[in-house]
Amino acid sequence: MPIPSETKNTKTTDSDEATRSYRTCTSCKQRPKTMLLLPCSHLAACEQCVADLSCCPMCFRSVSCVIRTFII
Ligand SMILES: [Zn+2]
Ligand SMILES: [Zn+2]
Repeated sequence: MPIPSETKNTKTTDSDEATRSYRTCTSCKQRPKTMLLLPCSHLAACEQCVADLSCCPMCFRSVSCVIRTFII
């Protein structure tokens, strides 16, 4: 399934909102998730918020490493 590129469209429907929350940072809920946390492998936060995370916000395992990902 192709991943749609980010748009500036601010109109949201219920399905759009679900997609948005799936793709946006669990901390600030504004920027797209780009940082993959290890060892749990959750894609959970944006680059700005990951610096403040000591544990994964999704599974609460401690974070030992983060990997920057690029979603086009
Ligand atoms: Zn964030
Ligand atoms: Zn996790």
